[in-house]
Amino acid sequence: MRFAKLLVLVAVLGVACRSDTTLSSPSAGASAAASAVPATAATAAPAAAGTATAITLDCVASAAPLVELTEGPYYKAGPPQRTSLMQSGLAGTPLTLTGAVVTRSCRPLANAKLDFWQADGNGNYDNSGYTLRGWQLTDAQGQYRLETVIPGLYPGRTEHIHVKVTPAGGQTYTTQLFFPGVAQNTSDSIYSGAMLVKLDRSTNPIAATFLFVVNLP
Ligand code: FE
Repeated sequence: MRFAKLLVLVAVLGVACRSDTTLSSPSAGASAAASAVPATAATAAPAAAGTATAITLDCVASAAPLVELTEGPYYKAGPPQRTSLMQSGLAGTPLTLTGAVVTRSCRPLANAKLDFWQADGNGNYDNSGYTLRGWQLTDAQGQYRLETVIPGLYPGRTEHIHVKVTPAGGQTYTTQLFFPGVAQNTSDSIYSGAMLVKLDRSTNPIAATFLFVVNLP
């Protein structure tokens, strides 16, 4: 079976990613120490040495596509294009979300549109402006990076980030991302365990990763 891994290095100043079928170490989970970064990956991002947290995103050729979930009532058309949703006075714990958009066969998709929206750390959406709303395109390696905050709870909902994923020229997949270890996950009827980010709370900002697999060959 064909098997490939995307190794994402999450660092304060940047992200380095590579697809490499020769990497043999198993997924280290969300909290791998920097010392566990394979030498091949470390050389790919020398500037990040000592500050990077390695999160391995396994991409298996038979990977199931992302689970589509309801848009909910708070999407607002026309958000700005930006990779950072941070602004002064924003409530919430800083979070950097990184990853990639790939097909079922792990083919990275450049110029895929990711349109994110979410509540602030107090569970409030900005329905009059565009706070915590923004879209971006994946880079040539299919990667994305979002600077934001961990969303808060609001009635009936666990912590979640909404996103619309649109491959170039393709259909839009609407879904939500969730966070591991949140008690309210089990009582949220929309929650999907397939849409859990990998999380490393040891970094500042907290680092999350998610690999969006779209239903393309
Ligand atoms: Fe919501």
